[in-house]
Amino acid sequence: MRHMASSDDSAVARSAAAAPNSWGFGDGQAIPWDYAPAPEARDIVSLKERYGLFIGGREVQATGGETFVSIDPSTELPLASVAKATAADIDKAVRAARRAYRRSWGQLSGKERAKYLFRISRILQERSREFAVLESMDSGKPIKESRDVDVPLAASHFWYYAGWADKLDYAFPGRVARPLGVAAQIIPWNFPLLMLAWKIAPALAAGNTVVLKPASTTPLSALLFAEVCTQADLPPGTVNIVPGPGEVGMSLVTHADVDKVAFTGSTEIGRKIYRGVAGTDKALTLELGGKAANIVFDDAPLDQAIEGIVNGIYFNQGEVCCAGSRLLVQESIAETLIDKLKDRLATIRVGDPLDKNTDVGAINSKAQLEKITELVASGVAEGAELYQPACDLPERGYFFRPTLFTNVAMSHRIAAEEIFGPVLSVLTFRTPDEAVEKANNTPYGLSAGIWTDKGSRILDMVSKMKAGVVWANTFNRFDPTSPFGGYKESGFGREGGMHGLHAYVRLEDR
Ligand code: NDP
Repeated sequence: MRHMASSDDSAVARSAAAAPNSWGFGDGQAIPWDYAPAPEARDIVSLKERYGLFIGGREVQATGGETFVSIDPSTELPLASVAKATAADIDKAVRAARRAYRRSWGQLSGKERAKYLFRISRILQERSREFAVLESMDSGKPIKESRDVDVPLAASHFWYYAGWADKLDYAFPGRVARPLGVAAQIIPWNFPLLMLAWKIAPALAAGNTVVLKPASTTPLSALLFAEVCTQADLPPGTVNIVPGPGEVGMSLVTHADVDKVAFTGSTEIGRKIYRGVAGTDKALTLELGGKAANIVFDDAPLDQAIEGIVNGIYFNQGEVCCAGSRLLVQESIAETLIDKLKDRLATIRVGDPLDKNTDVGAINSKAQLEKITELVASGVAEGAELYQPACDLPERGYFFRPTLFTNVAMSHRIAAEEIFGPVLSVLTFRTPDEAVEKANNTPYGLSAGIWTDKGSRILDMVSKMKAGVVWANTFNRFDPTSPFGGYKESGFGREGGMHGLHAYVRLEDR
């Protein structure tokens, strides 16, 4: 095991004598006892050596026969080789989707579509352990998150939208909701199965067919989902899955027979996609980056807030578009809160994603680890104060310590750029107006959090925050019935709830 000393050894020494040893010493010292390993069984997943594309209800090899390897970021070992779609394969997939739209899926009644969606949801629940393990192996996220968050939420999205499929006539009063046609969907690597569900469930409920490109580092749960489609007897071509490089994503976006484009990922690629659909009548939703402010007032329940802060930034290694990566603390409680936070950080367990005790797993890729490392180095160079708890990291794999920066200025890169890693920047404020000004001082506008005892303050703050989602006295809460999406450079369009359904229909007068 690698071991790094705390960045503040003198603070450790100071606190060690006084702290209780039942739960840890706090102030950055590793807890004095170890959890026995509780590894989830990997063999519940039957990995194939080689995966094809899923087009027209069949597994097919890529034109040209090229493949790429998906690796386990916690071990750096290969998991499987995957067919690498080309523009010709994208064309085949769009044709298959169009055929299904014209001849099968697009002809079904809402009631029939609902039955398929309920069936998919049920199969996801039945195979939930398999999906959770595979997702953790391919993405690096802790098993307790894939098991308790990603997979159940994915299943509940299909369940929720199944409920809408036969009720479209009532969803938009006075209007007739028609499907758009073929939807091109591009998803990222941070919540592979969940993002698939956010996109495929409403699209199918509304009667569209889809071609989905997963991220190159996490294609496996989408390919397992292809098996679910077959198991559910979904008409061939209704869902097509085409892993491949980013450029192939662009040939999907610009394909002439696509009616709708839905993208989740970086703002940079979002801009390219915007340009790719400009001048066409394709519908578009973009869910892009974020730099959320998590604001703690002096009347907040501090211990509860600490849990919310930890969940806000260290959940899924901080690889979350709506992560609470900027902590704004009211000046009068800053010292107390930061002390408590450091104590809490010392209890976070970083390591094997498949260990049920793990809180922070592996960073998704070497490239992402390098990006986090570079941004953290910039924070130190620009004068912010770095704090990392002492903790052992596995020898192999892409791991990064939970990191806290104090003395952060708004001009620092760590306060302005999306890091997409377990890195929290702490800033302070004196008045609610200053908190609002600092929170909104970002090109992004995806999410925010407010911690206070006063309901009136929550309502006042919410009305002033430029963020698509504002959580009050909680953070990172998701529900299929609730819309999610951003302002400004965080994109536009909403996913989830009726708003998410709206993004997949064309409304006509009765
Ligand atoms: P990208 O935006 O590049 O990837 C998201 C998806 O877009 C992937 O499926 C990717 O495919 C695809 N893609 C890449 N290039 C193109 C293109 N030209 N046209 C169409 N699709 C394309 O994110 P990265 O993986 O590069 O991550 C970079 C940064 O983006 C992160 O550090 C983070 O800050 C941010 N990010 C934000 C996310 C969010 O949820 N808001 C999610 C992921 C990243 P492929 O994997 O094959 O490249």
